Amino acid sequence: MRVKDKIAIVTGGCGGIGAQSARVLAGEGADVILADLDEKKGQQIAQEIGGRFHALDVTDRSAWQALAERVFDDRGRIDILVQCAGIEGDNSRNAFETPPEVWNQVIAVNMTGTFFGCQAVMPFMLQQGAGSVVLLSSIVSFMSTATSIPYGASKAGVQHLAQSFAYLGSRDGKKVRVNSVHPGSIKTRMTDDIIADLAKAAGCTKEEAEAKLLSSIPFGRRGAPQDVAQMILYLVSDEAAYVTGGEFKIDGGWLVRDVIS
Ligand code: NAP
Repeated sequence: MRVKDKIAIVTGGCGGIGAQSARVLAGEGADVILADLDEKKGQQIAQEIGGRFHALDVTDRSAWQALAERVFDDRGRIDILVQCAGIEGDNSRNAFETPPEVWNQVIAVNMTGTFFGCQAVMPFMLQQGAGSVVLLSSIVSFMSTATSIPYGASKAGVQHLAQSFAYLGSRDGKKVRVNSVHPGSIKTRMTDDIIADLAKAAGCTKEEAEAKLLSSIPFGRRGAPQDVAQMILYLVSDEAAYVTGGEFKIDGGWLVRDVIS
């Protein structure tokens, strides 16, 4: 019971990483509020884990405010915010051909949505004097991308949000911790679609694109949502009481290859 009785909001709670994180947190004693777009799926997962579902479009600032106020009014505190909501956009086109609508949509959900989440929830944590926020960035925030610049830029932006909000959460003796996690290729609907896009961009099959991807991951496999959920559990638990502003890669060694392998 590593997060017993903590009140946790998990966005993107119907997705691969979000749903698994919600399961793990609930299994370790947290009272979980799943927030996502898909009401039917969200209610099912909430029922399965003994949590609650709240419909939320993360790009809607007033909806964020309503969610934070509702949770605080009902439960009297908000201990944990895990922001997993995200989209990948179109990764099949050369950066010079990426249309503005793809750029705007990816930035709106991944970066602006994450910003609104911190804006809405962190004041309650600051009022309590403590809390833990985990933002989903990606290892692309450390890499170049030929066909995924909107996604990569949004995730680099999230990395910056984590740094800045970590600073704001630690001033005046407050202990509101903010960290970013940077998954590599985790087996979810999102990366299946990204691999299909990359195959299209490279003019090869999905199987060939996946084989190429796996050959660059030292551990030779895509990660599982559980690999990320375990890191999130650590970061939101009291075991990480001295950890803020950290950037945690979960990538099977993808970024530690030597220069010629
Ligand atoms: P996923 O399965 O597609 O889950 C993302 C969830 O976010 C979905 O339930 C999606 O709902 C929801 N969502 C999309 N737009 C939203 C909005 N405007 N408001 C609220 N919810 C919204 O993806 P995932 O692989 O679990 O990824 C979770 C997070 O990890 C994302 O931020 C992703 O960028 C990041 N990440 C993933 C990987 C990976 O390898 N999978 C690697 C690095 C980083 P719908 O399905 O209804 O659109």
